[in-house]
Amino acid sequence: MPEITDGMIAVEDALKNVLAGVKQLGTEDISVADAQNRVLAADVISRLTQPPVAVSAMDGYAVRAEDVASVPATLTQIGESAAGSGFDGKIEAGQTTRIFTGAPVPEGADAIVIQEDTETAGDQITMIEAAPAGKYIRPAGLDFKTGDTLLSAGTRLNSRNIALAAAMNVPWIKVYRRPRVAILSTGDELVLPGEPVGPDQIISSNSIGMAAFVTANGGVPINLGIAKDDPDSLKEMLNSLSGADMLVTIGGASVGDHDLVKSVLGEEGLDITFSRVAMRPGKPLIFGQISGIPMLGLPGNPVSAGVTAALFLRPAINKMMGLGDSSHRTETAILGRDLDSNDKRQDYLRSTLDIDANGALTAIPFDRQDSSMLARFAQAQCLVVRVPFAEPISAGERVEIIKLDGSF
Ligand code: AMP
Ligand code: MG
Repeated sequence: MPEITDGMIAVEDALKNVLAGVKQLGTEDISVADAQNRVLAADVISRLTQPPVAVSAMDGYAVRAEDVASVPATLTQIGESAAGSGFDGKIEAGQTTRIFTGAPVPEGADAIVIQEDTETAGDQITMIEAAPAGKYIRPAGLDFKTGDTLLSAGTRLNSRNIALAAAMNVPWIKVYRRPRVAILSTGDELVLPGEPVGPDQIISSNSIGMAAFVTANGGVPINLGIAKDDPDSLKEMLNSLSGADMLVTIGGASVGDHDLVKSVLGEEGLDITFSRVAMRPGKPLIFGQISGIPMLGLPGNPVSAGVTAALFLRPAINKMMGLGDSSHRTETAILGRDLDSNDKRQDYLRSTLDIDANGALTAIPFDRQDSSMLARFAQAQCLVVRVPFAEPISAGERVEIIKLDGSF
């Protein structure tokens, strides 16, 4: 592949640099109830055996298997065992107890005959079906035992994991801290939704969208507001940076007269790792370190900001919050339209994604790929990836895609 020039860095190299420039954060102990999407910093070890004793899996009668080896067999009911209040006595030959799901199996019993297979007449219960030893009994520890390690460090917790930790009687768990991501938009033209909008102003959609993106990916957004396109305004807003784990600026990253991020943050000590990436959308993309924290300078166009956030901010957040491998899961799809050859920038084409009855995916790039077109971006279901200098490609061939899932 020809070398990429113009001081642009390849996407993979940019990602390596970003990942090398962010650190895994410290840990905190939180209530298991608050742990959705958090990443475990330590293994979780069970403090209980579950079930704690042998219990019934069905509603029915607890019996000695040998008493019902030949049926019908009529036994005398001597009591009842319910979930949370077991039967105290012992079942002897010819005896049974009523039993319910989750109730302890009384001493002496070793099988359950389900209710549907019995006939009752007062305390005389006739078993119509036999039950071999162990039938419908959940032995103690069937699910797990005290001391079992059931969730390992590095796991991102979902509701099933959380239920399991709770069942293990683990009320507090150690997780990595959520990255606090400070978001600073720049531009004289920007106002927030609901504010008066002048004739040449637009809404700072990125301020809102990027905060949602950070939240969806497990971080805590800190909105620093909108800086004017003048050095003092930008510097002043940087004062609110303390406590953040990462700074994300939006806009002002390019080479225009009003693009101040590089120069002003440079004066404030920004140590730049790279400032141009061979990709489209998103060429003016800055990464560096300022005041001891990593800084990602996203381009202002909403689609550029969204795509670069997906490619670089998400892996950075993942690493900070303790997730190991944060590379994209790329898939392939059938291309739905012809595409021209590509130049030196890696393309991420906003596309729809059709799925046919056999599950085959067809990605159809929108005809116009302008990086300001937020409506199209919102409609897109995937990005078709085109490597630099790719040859022309026809509809029907396979292409690499990145699905735009719920956290974009
Ligand atoms: P810039 O990177 O500042 O040159 O901005 C590129 C384009 O993105 C311009 O059309 C800006 O108006 C637009 N833009 C910049 N920041 C935002 C933002 N926060 N929300 C929406 N559009 C933006
Ligand atoms: Mg601007």
